[in-house]
Amino acid sequence: MKKIAVFPGSFDPFTIGHEAIVIRALNLFDEIIIAVGANALKKNYYSLDTRKEMIAKVFRNEPKVRIDHYEGLTVDYCKRNGAKYLLRGLRTAADFEFERAIAQVNRAMASDVESVFLLTIPEHTPINSTIVRDIIRSGGDASQFVPAAINLKDYKGEEI
Ligand code: ADP
Repeated sequence: MKKIAVFPGSFDPFTIGHEAIVIRALNLFDEIIIAVGANALKKNYYSLDTRKEMIAKVFRNEPKVRIDHYEGLTVDYCKRNGAKYLLRGLRTAADFEFERAIAQVNRAMASDVESVFLLTIPEHTPINSTIVRDIIRSGGDASQFVPAAINLKDYKGEEI
């Protein structure tokens, strides 16, 4: 059976930290669905379409990666797509505590979906979308923190 993993997140924007996790996970799974959470209540800097477009650029030559979005529960999205694995990245102890609770609750709701965590490489530990967004908003150059395929000048964020 095809091993499908869902990598859910806000990806606002997608960073080299996210990219590295997906690339490493390609060795573990047959297909990875990068699923952008479309939460109507959460204000995002980049629109859903922009975030998906950026990620599509990064993996345009990788047939094992699919880009999608979803609303509602992540485990329901996994079930609808035949995914038995939920992929997440871990940077710090704070990430671990946050992810632990989510994974345990997800497991209580869907015991057939296994959460899989990859520990970030040390260089990517301080990279998070919030900081990258703040650099961009303040007119700084954040290009070193996003995948080479993404040219930030091509995209406009929304004031939030
Ligand atoms: P969310 O809003 O769900 O936290 P994010 O877009 O911030 O979504 O992150 C998605 C996933 O990627 C999470 O598992 C997060 O821990 C992981 N992640 C974010 N930045 C990095 C990084 N620099 N290295 C490794 N994993 C990361």
